[in-house]
Amino acid sequence: MQTADRPRVGVYPGSFDPPTNGHLDIIRRATRVVNKLVVAVAVNPSKDAMFTIDERVEIVRAEIAAINNDLSSRVEVRSFEGLLMQYVRDVGATIIVRGLRAVTDFDYEFQMTGMNARLDPEIETVFLMASESHQFISSRLVKEVGMLGGTVAPFVSSAVAKRLVARIAERKAGKR
Ligand code: ADP
Repeated sequence: MQTADRPRVGVYPGSFDPPTNGHLDIIRRATRVVNKLVVAVAVNPSKDAMFTIDERVEIVRAEIAAINNDLSSRVEVRSFEGLLMQYVRDVGATIIVRGLRAVTDFDYEFQMTGMNARLDPEIETVFLMASESHQFISSRLVKEVGMLGGTVAPFVSSAVAKRLVARIAERKAGKR
């Protein structure tokens, strides 16, 4: 059980391939709900990732550090593999943070939250509604826009945009 003097730890899991302005907004806002946030970057072998797990961890860390020191002191970025509920317990967290965009995320999140609640009813999932300006941003669409030669600048930081453009060029050249 959570006691008043124990810091409230949350886990924000996801693929972050790559992290978008939507993810960063959720990270920033989640620190208002929890004292410490662990951003858990999923190894996720089933997805064909644009960036490796080590790259994604490094990119999310750099994104957080670029926002401000206070945020970096309260947010830890780690990779994780396996059952989320086990990971949440292992890091001493009691809250899972997820972002919710309009109706598209609801069905999947509803099922996953129900399943997770069965696995461990002591752990709560907290949803933060995507901010109005981030409703339509997803890593998948950002990658698609980039692959088709569109500008990704409105959806990700300039550092992420640069890395994405470089990676897409490498892929097109057959290097990755
Ligand atoms: P997953 O593979 O778990 O879907 P993502 O990296 O795509 O991983 O998303 C991680 C979490 O961030 C999910 O809860 C997702 O709903 C949320 N999220 C993604 N994009 C946005 C956004 N633009 N605004 C708010 N939440 C978002």
